[in-house]
Amino acid sequence: MTATRPLSCHLDVLRLPLLGRRLRGRRGRLALQLPLALAALLLVLDGFTGPQQAARNLATVTPWVHFRGFAVLALLLAGNLFCMACPFTLTRTLAKRLSLRGRRFPQRLRNKWPAITALFLLFLAYEVLDLWASPALTAWLILAYFAASFVLEVVFTESAFCKYVCPPGTFNFVYSTVSPTQIGVKNPEVCRTCVGRECINGSYSPMPVMRVDAIPGGQREVQHGPDGTLGCGTLLFAPQISSNLDCTMCLDCVRACPHDNASLFVRQPARELFQPDAWPKRWDVSLLVIMLAFMGLTNAFGMVPPVYALQHTLVDSLGIRSEWLLVGLILLAGGVVAPALLALAAGRLGQVLTSTTRKYPLRHTVAAFAPAFVPLGLGIWMAHYGFHFLIAPGTIIPVIQEFLGQPGEWARFSGTLDLTLIGLLQLLALLAGFVGSLAVANRAALRLYRQAAMPGLLPWALLLLGLALAAAAVFSLPMEMRGSVLFD
Ligand code: SF4
Ligand code: SF4
Repeated sequence: MTATRPLSCHLDVLRLPLLGRRLRGRRGRLALQLPLALAALLLVLDGFTGPQQAARNLATVTPWVHFRGFAVLALLLAGNLFCMACPFTLTRTLAKRLSLRGRRFPQRLRNKWPAITALFLLFLAYEVLDLWASPALTAWLILAYFAASFVLEVVFTESAFCKYVCPPGTFNFVYSTVSPTQIGVKNPEVCRTCVGRECINGSYSPMPVMRVDAIPGGQREVQHGPDGTLGCGTLLFAPQISSNLDCTMCLDCVRACPHDNASLFVRQPARELFQPDAWPKRWDVSLLVIMLAFMGLTNAFGMVPPVYALQHTLVDSLGIRSEWLLVGLILLAGGVVAPALLALAAGRLGQVLTSTTRKYPLRHTVAAFAPAFVPLGLGIWMAHYGFHFLIAPGTIIPVIQEFLGQPGEWARFSGTLDLTLIGLLQLLALLAGFVGSLAVANRAALRLYRQAAMPGLLPWALLLLGLALAAAAVFSLPMEMRGSVLFD
């Protein structure tokens, strides 16, 4: 097996003419955030004051129909561009100046359980409150994101909202692991002797994670103090980064490094999924990735007719009257409990079939196969979001026209793509995801079980196949065309 080439041998994106300098510049991120912040404010304005029809309001059409499709494509083709330009963290510098106490996020919550809970609650609210159909509620949700991000930045020294809470951020972290870019360092030797470690500490911080000191012979002038540069908000240390998990691609590490040693490199897409130690072997990380793939299936299941039959059955058999409880039970069963139990069962069965029960803790086995759920999970979300986008790709134009006080040219722009073609594209996304997942699982099985790789792979391959087939079955059913003019 050939050793993986270090990132420094790959193309340095920040050395590209024009683009690199702009992105690295002190205000590089701001230039991306300001247009998105303006867009968010317009969505909020239209959400509160515009027509309360989902298909005619910017607040619903933009995030629920168009934006999600683009964000997923960006993850696949470039990297975590949404987090990079995220408007919710626009006030981070201001918040950090107010944050003088230097308090860390509670130790017990420094894991992915809060993010899993936040994702679950968002999907629950999305279904029960019909967020996709309510411009005003969507506007409140956008404001809530701004407020939560700001408050957590003020209270805690790290970017707790991004790292531990934000649902879209968590989604982006997980699926940016297939992206063709990653932060790394040009020369690890420089990091070995680096005193200030500004890439993580920043050149000012109320409570540095590592020692902050003067930098003898730094290549760049670094201002220590309130005018300095922030370090990594999600506490990643550039020379040790092996994964895109938790990286918002904010490039603060690049700006903070006085030795010009941190950068953004092109890498082999999904490279980390094939690397044994790229991710921590933690239950929260492994289950987040597996659950997110199943949440994609459960989320799509919420749009097809059998979900109503299931709800009626639950009402009749259990006498449940609360919609929160009803939908909560379905989401909990399909998106949380089932994936956790199935992953544990597949892990244990693989150990039994390969006689490695004593060799590896179950946590390590599940962690080895968890990355295999990324390609298929992404395929499921792409099939879902792609459907919403392709069913009425042009409707954003008449919505903008009406927002600007012009008559909306609905007849001209509300055309839909051929449904058979959309179905084929969905199938293609699932198939590509499944093949990618099998390749990752196969590599993990070879690494863990060597000659016994086949029996070790079997339970995971069956689980992935079951998930792919279930997704294909759901997508073959008629779906609600939420947020499109066809549905309203
Ligand atoms: S990336 Fe820069 S700031 Fe971070 S340890 Fe290396 S040389 Fe120091
Ligand atoms: S490593 Fe940290 S500072 Fe660097 S781009 Fe990623 S999130 Fe930002």
